[in-house]
Amino acid sequence: MAVTIPARLGKATRLGAGKSLKLTNTYGSQVVDTWAFIAANMNEFMSMEHSRAAIGGIFPHVGDMMVTNHREPILTLVEDTSPGIHDTLIAACDRYRYEHLGCVGYHDSCTDNLVAALCEFDLTPPETPSPWNMWMNIPIAADGSVSFEPPVSKPGDYVVLRAERDVVVAFSCCPQDILPINGTDCVPQKCYFEILD
Ligand SMILES: [Zn+2]
Repeated sequence: MAVTIPARLGKATRLGAGKSLKLTNTYGSQVVDTWAFIAANMNEFMSMEHSRAAIGGIFPHVGDMMVTNHREPILTLVEDTSPGIHDTLIAACDRYRYEHLGCVGYHDSCTDNLVAALCEFDLTPPETPSPWNMWMNIPIAADGSVSFEPPVSKPGDYVVLRAERDVVVAFSCCPQDILPINGTDCVPQKCYFEILD
């Protein structure tokens, strides 16, 4: 059954150990912030800083196993039809980010979306872990500088993630509409996921 992640909002699901989930970038232009928490202990979660050490790089490739803040395997990237440009460096957007960008009044954020998505399961994140930003294109120049660019994925691109433990996975269709990370038109779009048999 396909579950829609509405544009600008989040959605979570439980995923048992050994089960896989397919996340599809419907329009190809959308960044999806992705988190995973150990179901029995929300204080143990997928960690980008620990995963970069585990996989020996900043771009996860098919076959790479992401790890928790306790350095235990949590999610494996099993399939990826996109060019594999997913960010592991940039923090989730939040109210402060939008205030700095000049927004007045409330703006949806991935940080708020994580809280709302987990609330549906009566769960609370212990913090906002640095997300695995699916399809987010943050090129790194030779001098170490980074820039925020549109995704290079195409409509219908998907990733398949396998749970290595019983986890809760949360997604946010990033509501960033000031910088072009969700396409040059700066219009956030919906995506969807399916739990595979
Ligand atoms: Zn965001």
